[in-house]
Amino acid sequence: MNKHSNQHMTTDEFRKQGKKVIDWIADYYDQIEQYPVLSQVKPGEIRSNLPQSAPIKGRDYGDILSDMDKMMPGITHWQSPNFHGFFPCATSGPAILGDLISTGLSINGMNWATSPSCTEVETHVLDWLVDMMDLPNKFKSTSTGGGVLQDTASSSSLVALIAAREKASNGQTNKNGGNQQLTAYTSSQAHSSIEKAVKIAGIGNDSLRLIKVDDSFAMNPKHLRESIETDISNGLTPAFVCATVGTTSSTALDPIEDIGKICQEFNIWLHVDAALAGPAALCPEFRFIHDGLEYADSYTFNPHKWMLTSFDCSVFYVANRKVLIDSLSILPEYLKNKDTDSEMVINYRDWGIPLGRRFRALKLWHVINYYGVEGLQKYIRYHISNTQELKSWIEENDRFEIVAPVPINLICFRHKNGDEFNENLLNTLNDSGKLYLTHTKLNNQFVLRFSVGQSNTTLDHLKKSWNYILDTVYEMEKD
Ligand SMILES: *Cc1c(COP(=O)(O)O)cnc(C)c1O
Repeated sequence: MNKHSNQHMTTDEFRKQGKKVIDWIADYYDQIEQYPVLSQVKPGEIRSNLPQSAPIKGRDYGDILSDMDKMMPGITHWQSPNFHGFFPCATSGPAILGDLISTGLSINGMNWATSPSCTEVETHVLDWLVDMMDLPNKFKSTSTGGGVLQDTASSSSLVALIAAREKASNGQTNKNGGNQQLTAYTSSQAHSSIEKAVKIAGIGNDSLRLIKVDDSFAMNPKHLRESIETDISNGLTPAFVCATVGTTSSTALDPIEDIGKICQEFNIWLHVDAALAGPAALCPEFRFIHDGLEYADSYTFNPHKWMLTSFDCSVFYVANRKVLIDSLSILPEYLKNKDTDSEMVINYRDWGIPLGRRFRALKLWHVINYYGVEGLQKYIRYHISNTQELKSWIEENDRFEIVAPVPINLICFRHKNGDEFNENLLNTLNDSGKLYLTHTKLNNQFVLRFSVGQSNTTLDHLKKSWNYILDTVYEMEKD
């Protein structure tokens, strides 16, 4: 892009079209509640409306923008205030604008030198977050550890596992594949990304122990200990434990402190996955979710879920950055420069899987500066208190039961009429387009999950959704 070109978009045209794009996005948010939350298209429907082959000659940008009309029916509206499926993926104006500038700069921050600001802003906001959430000081760059942004919690947990693998195998796995059989532990309620990481890191699915949970769906430390002891007596090497703060099914809180003591006793890497729940710790009254975090070797949470920062953005902290860097660093000739040997700089390429890195910290910078700590606390508190309010409405209705504790912003509930009724209820609600819920299974029962966290969800939205659920149930009970 430049001022004069007969091939590229000129800066003048970019200005003109860019303003239209911003208007388009703002209009989208103004009208978002008019769309069905869950896309109602059939498989292949979107593609069948697109041209068979690529255009030979370029098209006017205005026409390209109008292609969005063909794509909108195939959008599920994660930013709708009536989106209550999975976990939120909440964004905000400043996040979108920060990301736009990041794309506008289009730098590659693989090394410190390839854009010092990309590295230093990232280190800086991640140090801020340690203070903002009162996380253990060892996660700060000024201590032995440090923070880095990954794309997703899946990547954060994979990187943690690789570091744990190298620590347990004394660097042998990286060197020659290793000859010890390493084992990993997480609860039966942990996110599927842990199983995936175990496969990718070559630990192998057979070496992943899914530890039993208690009545609140939190990991049972007694079972963890038994499992570790059995493995050791069979000549295996326990390498990695992942505790979850806010499980995906039901936001159960694993007892990090008890788990951490076991990890310390057996010298096992403890990783804590708080992908959704982490930002609750912005508020002092919810910091109990992290009790015991001082035992953790690594920790992750996703600002792209519940901290107003556009997908993708996952925060990853490690207590001992040397172990991480030793596991992942590479230094071919073409990456050497006068700073590479210097202790003065961080080269984040050695802190994750990809070499290339975008300026992901910029959107986080925009969000934290726009809202301030108090603004973010207000947002978290509002969601948690609204969730508790919704919970009280569900409890008042004896048709329903709440089937898991509700420590923060997710309610797992079901109608007492059995699995088939609940499954039909879910499908009917989602087909209506008025709201979107997803389900899970707890104790082998089909359970509806009502997740609260989209940026613009108010108590009034919850009231309307709950009334709609009740109306739907009354209709279904008549049949
Ligand atoms: C959502 C979630 C993940 C995965 O997050 P991605 O960023 O999509 O990889 C991992 N763990 C938990 C507990 C989650 O809720």
